Amino acid sequence: MREKLSLAGLIEKVSSYSHDADFDTLKRAYHFSREAHCSQKRKEGSPYINHPLAVAYILADMKMDALSIASGLLHDTVEDAEVTMDDIKAIFGREIAFIVKGLTKLARVEFMTKQEAQAENFRKMLLAMAEDIRVMLIKFADRLHNMRTLQFLPENKQQRIAAETLEIYAPIANRLGIGWLKTELEDLSFKYLMPQLYEDLVKKVASRREEQEGYIKEVIELVGQKLREEGLTGKVSGRIKHFYGIYQKLQKQRITFEEVHDVIGIRIITGSNADCYAILGIIHSLWTPIPGRFKDYIGVPKSNMYQSLHTTVIGPRGVRVEFQIRTEEMHKLAEQGIASHWKYKEKGAIDEKSSKYISWLRDLVQGQRDVPDAVDFLEAVKGEVVPEVVYVFTPKGEVKEMPLGSTPVDFAYSIHTQIGHRCVGARISGKIVPLKYKLRNGDTVEIVTSPAHGPSRDWLKFVVTPRAKARIKQWIKAEERERSVELGIKLLENDFRKHGMSNALLKSGEILSVAKTLGVGTLEELFVAVGFGKITPHQVINRLRPGKEISEEETVRIHKSVKEHKGVSIKGIDDILYHTGKCCFPVPGDDLVGFVTIGKGVTIHRKDCPNLEKLAIEDARLVDVEWQASSEVTAGTRLYVETVDKPGILANLSALISALNINISHLEASSTQDKKSHITLILEVRDRNQLRALMHKISQMEGILRIRR
Ligand code: MN
Repeated sequence: MREKLSLAGLIEKVSSYSHDADFDTLKRAYHFSREAHCSQKRKEGSPYINHPLAVAYILADMKMDALSIASGLLHDTVEDAEVTMDDIKAIFGREIAFIVKGLTKLARVEFMTKQEAQAENFRKMLLAMAEDIRVMLIKFADRLHNMRTLQFLPENKQQRIAAETLEIYAPIANRLGIGWLKTELEDLSFKYLMPQLYEDLVKKVASRREEQEGYIKEVIELVGQKLREEGLTGKVSGRIKHFYGIYQKLQKQRITFEEVHDVIGIRIITGSNADCYAILGIIHSLWTPIPGRFKDYIGVPKSNMYQSLHTTVIGPRGVRVEFQIRTEEMHKLAEQGIASHWKYKEKGAIDEKSSKYISWLRDLVQGQRDVPDAVDFLEAVKGEVVPEVVYVFTPKGEVKEMPLGSTPVDFAYSIHTQIGHRCVGARISGKIVPLKYKLRNGDTVEIVTSPAHGPSRDWLKFVVTPRAKARIKQWIKAEERERSVELGIKLLENDFRKHGMSNALLKSGEILSVAKTLGVGTLEELFVAVGFGKITPHQVINRLRPGKEISEEETVRIHKSVKEHKGVSIKGIDDILYHTGKCCFPVPGDDLVGFVTIGKGVTIHRKDCPNLEKLAIEDARLVDVEWQASSEVTAGTRLYVETVDKPGILANLSALISALNINISHLEASSTQDKKSHITLILEVRDRNQLRALMHKISQMEGILRIRR
């Protein structure tokens, strides 16, 4: 394909930047590798040595030292040929042996699955990388050549390797600041992962290339002239963005290629930071900048230490043009990243600057060294390197870009609000996953819906897209309202009945005017207010029948209890009338059930309350209730304690309870003829755990016979 590869060519390349390199080792490595691989062919039929040689060329392009290039030549010998690590060590020394070892897959280990084997190999490589950066750079050169020659592999392998490259290698190249490598890996992966889209984009870009190149030339000339006028120097060059970059732009902005305006990038390389800002000023005085598109990565470098000024302006004839302005030094860093710190005379040891690039990798390796599961490790690495978005597919093969951390629920809402509301499950590549599963690149997401289903408040804990969040909240609000309307009507109907009034009043003009005197504008608002317990049925009735005042005592009491126990919610409804069952005294932490008891709001019982069956009467309605997390709330509960009848026991008991900071609101004790004491306590406890701890302590007291709730 590209240039014809040979040892002589390689040596020439290396001597162009390092005339005193260790050419002897290089030559020996070449011959050793050619010998070792002599019986092997690459998939397309050429001698295998072409692969390590191509890897060596890439390393020479990166101006690596001879030792690294020699390791590149040898990188497949142990794995694919009949060479041992000992051979390498004996012939080439410890350093090269270490690097080659890091690059050799654990081929002979039996793994459960292919996925695990891949993950384990990856972990091994990362561990070696963290120790010697050359392992990583050679691995990248190897991967790049494999990607460049991917057309010779069967399709399933192409897909797997391309996905892995896009998911792991390209992001790591980005983290290492090696811009050209990231770009090429992305475009190659894109080509194999989405061939149709890729071909399409290539054609479209080509169809506009001539026009755009003319345009670029025009802008370059204009800028160049202006710089000369202002006495500034700068190398101005232009380019059309890389395919995957354009594709991401299309996805992000949900536009077609015809609508993409800023595919043209102009780069200006100048002498100093001050010149960068001066040139920025010139660009902004020539053309109008687009708000929000100016980025000062000189002042605030990216995490991979990338520095540059970015701005997008509306250039000649209204075409958007992105400018990148940077110094020579910054440019070198942007293209070569960690490799730019490479000094071919240094050993593999990582200097201070390089270590910034891989501190995340070090941390990761440190933290994960003891994680036995290599697949988990790989996931952690992916979490660390993936870009901020994931690309997933609909079952029809349509690509969707989702923010990182998105779940099937986010995905469902991105398709349609109703699909989100009715989502009950999800399948990724045919397998059922939890709704809070985090989507990954390449996942095909199938949403399972059920028409009777609605969103849950819990979803708010894991969805990440603003759209999903907003839709879920909207639904919950509407549902709360609907339930309150229902409850409000029932409460009013019931009280009307008690006072011999007709339900027809509920639709009358009279009640509407009563609503207005109570400060609500519509009947629906009135029902909501009654359902929420903000207005009592009595208030309504008293205003409907002035002069026949009825007692509000009962309702007032319920209101008070709402204030005391703001700890319960009824399946998403906050602020509801409720009181706790005086038979079982539920506390936070208990499993609960509630009844809508007409006229009294909701009564809460423990699920294991012995009275429950008796209470399941006709006009009571079962509702799901839950405790809301709140540390401020206490609940009254009852304890029965049976003790031996001995002086001091009661005092000890109340001392123990007070010592735990628990209030005793009621205490009753009685003695029986068989010398026993029965003590009934009403206590204010925080939750079930506190209650349990207390019961445990009491049970260990001297003289205690039995204790129960
Ligand atoms: Mn290889």
